[in-house]
Amino acid sequence: MLNFGLTQLSALLAAKKISSAELTGEFLERSKSLNPDYNAFITLNEETSLAQARAADAMIAAGQAHALTGIPIAQKDIFCTKGWLTTCGSRMLSNFISPYDAHVIERFNAAGAVNIGKTNMDEFAMGSSNETSFYGPVRNPWDSTAVPGGSSGGSACAVAARMAPAATGTDTGGSIRQPAALCGISGLKPTYGLVSRYGMIAFASSLDQAGPMAKSAEDLALMLNVMTGFDARDSTSLEREPEDYTRDLEKPLEGLRIGLPKEYFVKEINDDVARAVEAAIAEYRKLGARTVEVSLPSTKLSVPVYYVLAPAEASSNLSRFDGVRYGYRAPEYTDLNDMYRKSRAQGFGAEVKRRILIGTYVLSHGYYDAYYIQAQKLRRLIAQDFIEAFKQCDIIMGPTSPTVAFNLGEKSSDPVQMYLSDAYTIAVNLAGLPAMSIPAGFGNQNRPVGLHIIGNYFAEAQMLNVAHQYQRATDWHVRMPIPLET
Ligand code: GLN
Repeated sequence: MLNFGLTQLSALLAAKKISSAELTGEFLERSKSLNPDYNAFITLNEETSLAQARAADAMIAAGQAHALTGIPIAQKDIFCTKGWLTTCGSRMLSNFISPYDAHVIERFNAAGAVNIGKTNMDEFAMGSSNETSFYGPVRNPWDSTAVPGGSSGGSACAVAARMAPAATGTDTGGSIRQPAALCGISGLKPTYGLVSRYGMIAFASSLDQAGPMAKSAEDLALMLNVMTGFDARDSTSLEREPEDYTRDLEKPLEGLRIGLPKEYFVKEINDDVARAVEAAIAEYRKLGARTVEVSLPSTKLSVPVYYVLAPAEASSNLSRFDGVRYGYRAPEYTDLNDMYRKSRAQGFGAEVKRRILIGTYVLSHGYYDAYYIQAQKLRRLIAQDFIEAFKQCDIIMGPTSPTVAFNLGEKSSDPVQMYLSDAYTIAVNLAGLPAMSIPAGFGNQNRPVGLHIIGNYFAEAQMLNVAHQYQRATDWHVRMPIPLET
């Protein structure tokens, strides 16, 4: 049962073959036994989760169940969750019990889903390996000497290890897709503006977007149905008719035009990853799709552009953490300025400080035009590349990450190497497009490879269809790193 999809679990609950309290209890038991080794959760709160499960059982008994009622979902610790410790992976918020719920949390609560715990993450979502967390690194369930990817590494690990049937993540430059790829699960970053950012602790507001992480495309669709929707409290939330993201799952792929950007299959990509991605594309040809070469000439600029814009926005967003009203405050200080200085010096980790310094620099008088404005112009060119490419194809495919999961410690002393692990994912955030990663086999050391599927604006249902058809034809997504008996 721990390996069941959301539809199967929902059917068991509806048929009263199992209660949500029992189901939640099973996932909690597994989480409690595996978490000391994998560190996927920062907070487990058994009593609260079970109380939510009992409330869900009452909803089911009253005939008021929705698709996710009674299903345990792991929530990334970036979402403010009322009554729960909400740390964002930082010492700065290590004492913060949120007094309110993020929009995403409200939506899951309204649907009757159960919060099974808050997942570990890179500090303030800055990282690609989950090694910047104040709460220590997460380990990859396929190989505990490897990183799970980041920043949503705890969520990816929890789903891959079957500690939770599904989880939430956030993606500013790849943080849903890259950990999904490295842990062998499915993850989707929606079109910018589809999911409200209200109560989701801000990193780079023009890029941040929340999305689902689960075993299959079908499960992602059910999660997305809950997570999306207009929210007046987020000024970039889009007002659109609600969609059913499961509606196109079963469509045949006959005639689908897959664009393969020539810039993606170059020397940076490892052979093992290239082989798996090519095999996945061959499978799509068997399913009736054809491939066309497309070009994204500005894509090589996306990492440098991102590392100007994201730190600029972060330096502004993180100025709110000053030790005054909430969060960490240095125990000793001489005056107000000293209190700010010491609280921030002690509360933030090295990567966060690096980003704040870069951001402050690129926004400073005299450098603003040379860096920030220039990066904004290039951002537009990067988006334009995709608009051109989508004139020739319906969907774009490539690798999610240039390598399989790397070892813990392998890149943590070299920020540029770390930043390059998002070479394929970042352009999508700069353009505001939707994209996903699905498991597509294994590379070196038997570590998972992710296939990156990029859609046009609002093409989530189509992307999910494309992913689901592949998952019907293959079984990568049902493979498990840790047997269920343990
Ligand atoms: N790895 C990228 C970074 O460090 C992206 C992180 C994210 O998407 N939150 O900024």
